[in-house]
Amino acid sequence: MITLNNIVKIYKTGDIELKALAGVNLSIAKGEFVSIMGPSGSGKSTMMNILGCLDTATFGEYFLDGVNINDTSEDELADIRNRKIGFIFQSFNLLPRTTALENVELPMLYKGINLRKRREKALKALEAVGLSERIDHKPNELSGGQQQRVAIARSLVNNPVILMADEPTGNLDSKSTLEIMAIFQQLNAIGITIILVTHEPDVAKYSQRIIHFKDGVIDEDEIVQHRSLAESELLDLNLFKNEE
Ligand code: ATP
Ligand code: MG
Repeated sequence: MITLNNIVKIYKTGDIELKALAGVNLSIAKGEFVSIMGPSGSGKSTMMNILGCLDTATFGEYFLDGVNINDTSEDELADIRNRKIGFIFQSFNLLPRTTALENVELPMLYKGINLRKRREKALKALEAVGLSERIDHKPNELSGGQQQRVAIARSLVNNPVILMADEPTGNLDSKSTLEIMAIFQQLNAIGITIILVTHEPDVAKYSQRIIHFKDGVIDEDEIVQHRSLAESELLDLNLFKNEE
């Protein structure tokens, strides 16, 4: 699904050039659950931005489902992002004056889906992440873990093939962290590829593979003994499967 050949990213700031990625080779198959770890400044977020088609490499090739991302126009990139990729951020990035329900409806509004369908799917997404009782709350009326679950619900309504999460549990306590990781595991179980960045080995151990970055290259690529957090009742997530 994802193939990277010798990806290099150079940032230019005035006269200064900084090589954030120095030749990354990587394959990720559909349905994998991958953590990216590594010291601050090792290129993790840079890698995520490229994988998520938010930025492009300076050199090298990136194939996503057979499409050469480096040869793709801005419009096509935006289209791939909207159709395939969901994003989760450390700081949740919810609209502050808007309810949980409206936040989750927003990506569908951009797509021109009618109100009835938007509402129906947003309610199901919020139910799937356990927030049916909180749909009318605004972000500042929700805990961090609840806000992150709203952000996950919002990322699901476009049926992503890949979910990209940069430090999704960085602002959360250990209980909320486990709730988020349990949701990721269940999303992975319906076939969504998950790529997350984390500093915490205790978070990465719930994924299936850990890619360690150091100085802009992959230092180690480790298969982990998958630990399951699955509760007895599985979430109803079929509506969010991507049939591509
Ligand atoms: P952290 O764990 O602190 O989030 P990271 O591994 O995500 O670190 P990156 O954000 O990918 O690291 O940054 C890699 C290097 O590229 C750093 O030296 C950083 O200063 C530099 N860098 C990142 N973004 C930019 C930018 N937009 N312009 C210039 N330099 C940048
Ligand atoms: Mg980062």
